[in-house]
Amino acid sequence: VRTSSGNAAGGDLRFVFQGDRMLLRGEATPYEVPGDIGLRVLFEEEIGEIHGRRCFAAEVEGDAPEGAAFQDLRSLLGVVDERVFAMAGRAKQVIGWNRDHRFCGRCGARTGSGTERFSRKCPECGALYFPRLSPAAIVLVSRGEEVLLARSPHFAPGMYSALAGFVEPGESVEETVAREVREEVGIEVKDITYFGSQPWPFPNSLMIGFLAEHAGGELRPDPSEIENARWFETDSLPKLPPLGSIARALVEEFISRRGRCTGPSRPSARS
Ligand SMILES: [Zn+2]
Repeated sequence: VRTSSGNAAGGDLRFVFQGDRMLLRGEATPYEVPGDIGLRVLFEEEIGEIHGRRCFAAEVEGDAPEGAAFQDLRSLLGVVDERVFAMAGRAKQVIGWNRDHRFCGRCGARTGSGTERFSRKCPECGALYFPRLSPAAIVLVSRGEEVLLARSPHFAPGMYSALAGFVEPGESVEETVAREVREEVGIEVKDITYFGSQPWPFPNSLMIGFLAEHAGGELRPDPSEIENARWFETDSLPKLPPLGSIARALVEEFISRRGRCTGPSRPSARS
C-alpha cells in the first residue's frame, strides 16, 4: 500500500473516497491529498497517471481531516480539468467494483485479486469480476430550429436535459435511442448520428451521445419517467445540465451547427 507522496513533479495524486463521496480539500486543490491524512485505508490501487503524476484510488474510513470534507463528485463536474474529473470517476468506479465483488456472485466464496488489471477472481469456481460499465444512450432530438428537452422528477428544479436511457441486452445503441425516445415521449426519430461519449460515474455509466431528428408523432410523455417534455427554441432554453456534461455539449453542438447553417451564429447557452 502506497501511502507517501512527494516527488519533483508534484507528487502522487490520491483520489480518496468514503462510500461514493470524495475527499475534497478546500476549493482549489480538491484532488491533491497528501499521503498521511490520518485515515484508515481499506483499499488502495494505482489507476493511472496525469501529467506524469501517479494516480491512486483509495477507500478510507474515519472522519475527514481538518479543512477537508467528503463530497459528491458531481460538484467537480465542469469545475476541475476534464482529465482530473475522469480520473476521479475512474477511482470511484474501481472502489465501488472492489467493494461490490468481495464475494463471488456465482458460488458465494470470498474473491481475491486476479492477475489482470482491475480483476477479482473466485478461488473456488474461477469466476472473474471486472468493473462493470452500464452503457447508456443520450440523444438530443431536434425539429427544425427547436430541440426536445425533458425533465425527470429527480432533476434539480427547473432543469431540463436530453433524453437518455440504458442500453438493453441485444440492442445496438441506435436501437436504444429509438426505443427510449418512443417509450419516454411517444415520438419517432430519424437520422440518428453519433456525437461523442463521456464516462459517467453515477454510478457506472458510459454515456453515448447522439443527435437525431423528429420523424413523426406528438409528444406524449410517460409520466412514470418524464415530468415534462417540450420543444424549445434555442434562444429560449431552460436551465441546462452543467458545463462539462455531454447533455450540455449536445445542446451547444446543435446551436453551433444551426449557426453555421443559418447565417450569423447565435449566442451559445454559456452564460
Ligand atoms: Zn465462485
